[in-house]
Amino acid sequence: MTQKLYYDDQYIKVFSATVLSCEKGERGFEVILDKTAFFPEGGGQPGDTGFIGGVEVIDTVERGEDVVHICADEVSGEVECQLDFDKRFANMQQHTGEHIISGYIHAMTGFDNVGFHMGEHAVTVDFNGVVTREQLDEAERLSNEAIYKNLPVKALYPTDEELENYDYRSKKEIKGQVRLTSIEGVDLCACCGTHVAFTGEIGIIKVVSVMNYKKGVRITLQIGRKAFEDYCEKNKNALKISAALKAKPEEIADAVERVQAQMQEMRFRYTQLKKNYFELYAQDCDGDKCCLFDDSGNAEDARLLCDILAQKAFVAAVFSGNDEIGYKYAVASRTYDVRKIAKELNSFCAGRGGGTAQMVQGSLATYRDMIESCWREIELNDD
Ligand SMILES: [Zn+2]
Repeated sequence: MTQKLYYDDQYIKVFSATVLSCEKGERGFEVILDKTAFFPEGGGQPGDTGFIGGVEVIDTVERGEDVVHICADEVSGEVECQLDFDKRFANMQQHTGEHIISGYIHAMTGFDNVGFHMGEHAVTVDFNGVVTREQLDEAERLSNEAIYKNLPVKALYPTDEELENYDYRSKKEIKGQVRLTSIEGVDLCACCGTHVAFTGEIGIIKVVSVMNYKKGVRITLQIGRKAFEDYCEKNKNALKISAALKAKPEEIADAVERVQAQMQEMRFRYTQLKKNYFELYAQDCDGDKCCLFDDSGNAEDARLLCDILAQKAFVAAVFSGNDEIGYKYAVASRTYDVRKIAKELNSFCAGRGGGTAQMVQGSLATYRDMIESCWREIELNDD
């Protein structure tokens, strides 16, 4: 059984220990020490990382009564150990912050936190009921007030009799000694994780987003140092958008809406102009068979132009592209079944595509002179 130093003092960054065993496992060398400050993955909190005897600790997990350190290499004897405490402290901030906001939401709605995950970029918490936006705003406000008050965060180890008198949150039935994390006036919750000593160390709790999940909601939170990093990233983006749109940072959402409206208007005008241009382009086109080449390679334009041509010619075709990228084609007719033409184009010009009797579309992997000679060869017949 490993002696768990993180329950005596959650701020231990360096310590000395004796290696009891070191065996090769799937992810690396599995090292068990006589005592450790490395917290093993559990209750939504990731396992600690750092160094044991100068060897990297990739992860820490719990196995029965033991804490197993997954190490990059072998270690033995007496070792000096060092935690990646920046990462651990961020976890402590996030874990304690989660207690606070979950406590307020529970007090407000009666719903329970039924899923908790500390990810690389954010914390998510799942509740077994729908928490409204107003309730979340209020829980967020109260949580940050609790941070400003710098309240102590205590670990309690109650007897069975004491426990019966406590009203505490718990995710599951616990056997043996229960460890309660207490923030007076805010929350009391059974938890085996690591926490900060005072709420002020958390810095900030921010609800980033909320979505419906199962029969309740999933809330995404930014807490502590991660929240600061998130703020820096979002501020950088806001300033970039602000400069690009020549709008004040607090007005960029309105500015984006204006740009979107302008783009829609321009798209409409562009389509109109394109139609006019195509009509001019098509004015000399008539007779039985008419075909035009265009170099844009745009299938949508080919379809539009072909449709205009088909008002003048019996059968109309547009080939859009060049000899390097190949050609998109559209063939249309008001009265002739153009699927027959698609078949011929596909087989003689390395093509693929099809469509309805009035309009076929596809692509040809060949050269312009091949297409032109193929088009000349195509005979229109009535059968
Ligand atoms: Zn906790």
